[in-house]
Amino acid sequence: MQLCLECGKVEEHADECPRRPPVPTTPAEKQKRVQKAMTVAQAVLDASATAAPKVAILKLLAAENLLERYPSRDLPGFAEKRSHNDLVTALGKKRGELETSSGAGHKFTEDAVFAKQAVSALFLQALRRAESRGFDRSALGRLPVSPVEGLTRPLKNVAADIGDRLEKSRGLDAQVRVWGWKNLGRLMLGLEPLDVPSELMGGVLGKLGVGKSTRRIELLGEFKKLGDQFRERLYLIAASSTILPVMSRLAVAEETWKKLTTKDGGAERWDRIKKDEKELLEYILDPDPSLPQGAEDVVSLLASNSRALVVLGLRPFEEIRGVDWEAWAKGYFLELHQMADGDMASGEFGTRKLARLLVEKRPGEGVDRDKIARVLQKLQEVWRSSPPDA
Ligand SMILES: [Zn+2]
Repeated sequence: MQLCLECGKVEEHADECPRRPPVPTTPAEKQKRVQKAMTVAQAVLDASATAAPKVAILKLLAAENLLERYPSRDLPGFAEKRSHNDLVTALGKKRGELETSSGAGHKFTEDAVFAKQAVSALFLQALRRAESRGFDRSALGRLPVSPVEGLTRPLKNVAADIGDRLEKSRGLDAQVRVWGWKNLGRLMLGLEPLDVPSELMGGVLGKLGVGKSTRRIELLGEFKKLGDQFRERLYLIAASSTILPVMSRLAVAEETWKKLTTKDGGAERWDRIKKDEKELLEYILDPDPSLPQGAEDVVSLLASNSRALVVLGLRPFEEIRGVDWEAWAKGYFLELHQMADGDMASGEFGTRKLARLLVEKRPGEGVDRDKIARVLQKLQEVWRSSPPDA
């Protein structure tokens, strides 16, 4: 198979692909690599007379690309550079002859170049769609205050809901501040406040003569509710920052496919390839009874079985511990304060990192308590040395 099931490239690998061969660094290594490429290309040229014409064209094209990736400039002597160039010329000439003699024409070569891009783009699109579809959002349906409904909708709709909620719950930040920093820890732990700020005790009710103890009981209830709502707000912020990269990767992949099919008659070309070019698609994807028509299904299936498919999700709200919530809230207010000061380097306190560590679920990975402990400690230290203004 010419399609890499790790990175989705055809006949080559992306920089970050685990299957990519090590990049030669020294001149000697580079030279050796070019010589090896030339040996491969020469073998392709020699075998081209006996292969089926279309397959030979595809292999010649691949050999030409290989020599382009390993160019003659990395060879030491003039004679060697010249034999590299001669080989490139011979490959192109042979391919041209085959295009003519087989009746496939140059159009076949153009189709081949396009099909490789198309399969690559479709593979990445299928991979990103599977990531988005499979994203485990079930924890959102078990939030303690107001569970998110309609979780089977596309992830982007769920994310839009979260965005709305975050917008609407913005006012909670100010309510938390009114209770003062001394009560923040207890708010996040779900305990009663250390003391009730006097400005909350007075106000309209006081003037109306409602008893102080009634007002106090009322305020304790509000404090409890505020804690629940604010924890949920923080959780949704973290959920949102876990979901957004998944959606943005999907958007990039969909855009790539769209661009490919909307320019220069791409969609028509792809339809024609799926109708007529069995050998071409088999060369890229390996033989499959559903080729060529079923190319997109074949690619989707390959993507959904790929090791590169990493389906993320959200950890349950109730698994986050009291101490985590407390430090998280402090980090959040430190960050807000910093942003209000116009200093956007807010990653410094690691709040986003903490949110990720607590909420993002990666397959086969548990909660990294050591890492979390380090971030918590850092946040508490920063808070102690310079708490934000209340
Ligand atoms: Zn690869």
